[in-house]
Amino acid sequence: MVRDAETEQLLRDYMGPIFRAAGISAKATQIVLVNERSFNAFVANGQKIFVNVGALMDSETPNEIIGVLAHETGHIEGGHLARLRQEITKAKALSVIGMLAGAGAVVGASQSGGRVGGAGTGAMGTLAGSQELVMRNLLAYQRTEEQAADQAALRYLTATGQSPSGMLKTFRRFNDAAIFQSGTLDPYRLSHPLPAERIAQLETLAKQSPHFAKKDSPALQARHDLMRAKLFGFTERPETVGRRYPLRDTSAPARYARAVQAYRSGRLSEALATIDALIREQPNNAYFHELKGQALLESGRALESIEPLRRAVSLTPSAVPIRAMLGHALVAAGEPRFLEEAIRELSNASIREPEFGEAFRHLATAYGRKGNIGMAELSSAQAFFNAGDLRNAQTQASRAMQKLPPGSPGYLKAEDIFNYRPPGSERS
Ligand SMILES: [Zn+2]
Repeated sequence: MVRDAETEQLLRDYMGPIFRAAGISAKATQIVLVNERSFNAFVANGQKIFVNVGALMDSETPNEIIGVLAHETGHIEGGHLARLRQEITKAKALSVIGMLAGAGAVVGASQSGGRVGGAGTGAMGTLAGSQELVMRNLLAYQRTEEQAADQAALRYLTATGQSPSGMLKTFRRFNDAAIFQSGTLDPYRLSHPLPAERIAQLETLAKQSPHFAKKDSPALQARHDLMRAKLFGFTERPETVGRRYPLRDTSAPARYARAVQAYRSGRLSEALATIDALIREQPNNAYFHELKGQALLESGRALESIEPLRRAVSLTPSAVPIRAMLGHALVAAGEPRFLEEAIRELSNASIREPEFGEAFRHLATAYGRKGNIGMAELSSAQAFFNAGDLRNAQTQASRAMQKLPPGSPGYLKAEDIFNYRPPGSERS
């Protein structure tokens, strides 16, 4: 998983209208960025949409990625995930019947995801027959869900005055046999079977949209281009970035990508000169200030990173990753005069997003340097808790409880962690 305030805000802006059209709460629906280059987007854990950064990098327009995420929203609205689980349970029950018939030969196959080749010896015919039936049932079920999600996506796009052409373009790309043969096995393709008839049906319906020819607004496209450039700069190798954004390309996205690449390759002064020029052109772009601060902070110049990060926070007060970075910079600067501000910024970040472990780690350092050991231990407990390390979390929480005034807000938080029992554990 990755955090990036710019990408997160853009995706929220893309999806707000779609969620409203679907009648689901934008607040309750989380979009999680996954640090994978392959194309993928999927729904898991109820209302969480996971998006690979690769899907954003492969989408040339906002409309393309909005279409794909509208389809995922269709799965949420339809409650498909919960029902798919039921179907899998049913399928498993059917597998058991197959297992009994196959008498012991089947165990390997069912564990290897139904691949018949994984089985041991004997009774192969029975196994193949029953497994195939199970798979056929599941696939037929999945096909219905995919079509329902397609149709839901078309409804949302029409309701929000957006074109379905981006979704169609993306799905067509996955249906292109040439791509499949070239060896790029995108997980999206595997989880979203795109038979020709599904594409054909989608195309017929899409072309009936009154907004088919509509384009994204230039402002939105500009933000999209900057976001993609940054993702390329952060995730691709220098040669790839150089090919995609050659020096002769003097557009803002190209310079943005090159600035990221320059600081990541240790060429800080080149990066700073490029970012400063971008800031002169767009002084209110929070993410340019953020990048300047990040480049300085990660190059060991924490003191100088504070000013640009403060500016970035003032331009986007709700961006938790930037606020946490400012808190980190204030701690890393190593001067006592910054500790109060660091604690304020990091507390603010952790209140907005209690599951953001990084903020708690820096908060623990800040409290420790201030000599407030009880709060330092509580912050460590919260960082461990978020990382899923319950043992260390509870050790730190019990230490914090010995130092914090009983009944104080910090004490109560420590007590909550100390008394926490994971769901499903024994109860008396
Ligand atoms: Zn789907």
